Amino acid sequence: MRSNKILITLLILFLAFNVSFSQSTSKKSSTKWKKHVALGIPTDSDSSDDFIIKRPQYVLSYNADKNVANWVSWNLNKSWYGKVKRWSGSFFKDPLLPKDVYKVKHSDYTNSGYDRGHMVRSEERTKTVTDNKSTFYLSNVLPQTADLNQRLWLDLEYYCQSLCVDSLKELYVMAGGVFHSGNRIESLVSIPDSCFKIIVVLNKGEGLSDVNANTEVIAVMMPNKDGIIDFDWKHYTTSIDRIEKSIGYDFLNMVDEDIQKMIELKVYKECNN
Ligand code: MN
Ligand code: MN
Repeated sequence: MRSNKILITLLILFLAFNVSFSQSTSKKSSTKWKKHVALGIPTDSDSSDDFIIKRPQYVLSYNADKNVANWVSWNLNKSWYGKVKRWSGSFFKDPLLPKDVYKVKHSDYTNSGYDRGHMVRSEERTKTVTDNKSTFYLSNVLPQTADLNQRLWLDLEYYCQSLCVDSLKELYVMAGGVFHSGNRIESLVSIPDSCFKIIVVLNKGEGLSDVNANTEVIAVMMPNKDGIIDFDWKHYTTSIDRIEKSIGYDFLNMVDEDIQKMIELKVYKECNN
C-alpha cells in the first residue's frame, strides 16, 4: 500500500512538472507574434468577419466571406533577411483556419490571370525554412496583377529591404486589399480593386514608445490593374487616414491619439529623407 502511495505521488509530481514545462516552452514561442502588432491590432466596426491568425512570422485577420485576409501585419528589420532559398513548391492551404471555413488552395489561382501576391514577401522571411514557408500560406496572399506584383509592389518591397539592410531601420508593416467592386476568381477568391501598404519607419530596436509626431510613415494605395508600370510606387502615396476611410479599419490604435492623428494625415514625400 505504502509503495503504491509513493508511486502515485511520484506520478503526480512527474505529470505536474511536465505540464508546467510544456506550458512554459509553448508560452515562449507563442508570444513571438506580439511584435507584429506592437502598434495595435487593426479593428473595424464589425469583428465577426475578422478571424485573427497569430504566427511567429506575422499576424493577420482572415475574412472567411472574401476568402482573403482583411489585413496582414508584420515587423521587419535586418534580422529577418537570411540565406534560405525561396520555397519552390506550391502555396499551402492555411491549416490554422477554422474547420468550417473554405481553405483557398494553390490551384484556385491557376489560369485566373492573377499572380499569387504575397503580403509578407517571401524574401522578408529567409532566416529559416519554416519562416519562409509560412509566407506561402494562401491566407498571406492576394490576387495581384502581374504589373502590380512584379513591378510597383515589388519596387516598394525592395525599398523596405534597403531601409532594413542598408539603413538599419525597424519597420512595422500592414498590408491588404481594398474591395469595392466585388470581383472574384471563380466566385471564390475576392480580387482587390487596389492594394494598400502602411510602413512605420523606426530605427532598429525601436517600438511603440518611440513613435512620435515626426515618425516617418509611408502609405500607398496602388491600383490592382495592368498598364501601371509607367509610374513607380511613389506615384501612389497617400495618407493612413485615407486608407482607414476607404476600408474602415483603424490602424496604429495603440499609438497615442494625438500622435496618431498627426502621422495618419501625412503623405510620404521623398524629400522627407
Ligand atoms: Mn509579390
Ligand atoms: Mn488609426
